[in-house]
Amino acid sequence: MKPGRSAAELGREIVSCRACPRLVAYREGVEPRASYASQVYWRKPVPGFGDLGGKLLILGLAPALHGAERTGRIFTGDASSRFLVTALHSAGFANQPMSESRDDGLVYRGCYITAAVKCVPPGDKPTREEFDNCSRFLDAEISLMPSLEGVLALGSLAFKAYVSHLARAGTDVRGMVFEHGASYRVDGGPVLYAGYHPSPRNTNTGKLTMPMLVGLLKKIRRDLRI
Ligand code: SF4
Repeated sequence: MKPGRSAAELGREIVSCRACPRLVAYREGVEPRASYASQVYWRKPVPGFGDLGGKLLILGLAPALHGAERTGRIFTGDASSRFLVTALHSAGFANQPMSESRDDGLVYRGCYITAAVKCVPPGDKPTREEFDNCSRFLDAEISLMPSLEGVLALGSLAFKAYVSHLARAGTDVRGMVFEHGASYRVDGGPVLYAGYHPSPRNTNTGKLTMPMLVGLLKKIRRDLRI
C-alpha cells in the first residue's frame, strides 16, 4: 500500500484488487436476477462513496449481490439502499431519498459510506482472512477523513470490523458490545455508534423501523454538531 495516496488512487487500487480468490470467483460469476437480465453487472470491488471531508463514516458489511455488486456504488439499487438513503435524506445527510444507479445524482453531505469488505461474499459471510485482507482499504479510507468524529456501524459484523480497526491502532476495545443505539467514546478518536443493518430481514420484521434509523442519525448529527 502506498502511503499518502489520493482518494482517486485509492479507489482505483480497490477496484482492481484480486486478493481474495474466493470472492473474485464469486463476484465475477454472479448470475443476474431475471429483472436485471439486460444490465451489465459491476462484478468488481466496490469502493466507498460520499463526503470524505465529513464528520461521519457509515460502515456496512459488504456490497449486496444485486445492489452494489450490480450497480458499482455502495448501498445502491436494492431494498437496503432505499431504506438507508430515505433515512439519510430525512436526517439531512443526502440530497435525495433514492439511490438507484451511479448516475442518479445522489450526493451525501457530512458523511461517507463504505463497507468493511469491498466484494460481495457468498451468503453475506466473509471469512476471517477476507476481513483481514480488506482491512487495509478501510484503514486507508479512514486515513482520508481528516474531520472524522463519528462512525456508525450497521450490523454486528461491521461493528466488529471497526472494533478490529481500533484494536489495530492500539485502542483498548474491551467492553464494546453491539447493540442498536449504543455508542462508545474512544479516547482521542471518533465516537463509535451501533445500529441495526437496514436489510429487509430487519426492516420487514419491524426490528428496524424508519423512525428508529432517522432518530439515530439525527442524534448523531446533534452529538457531532453536523
Ligand atoms: S474483499 Fe477486499 S481484499 Fe478481497 S478481493 Fe475484494 S477488495 Fe480485494
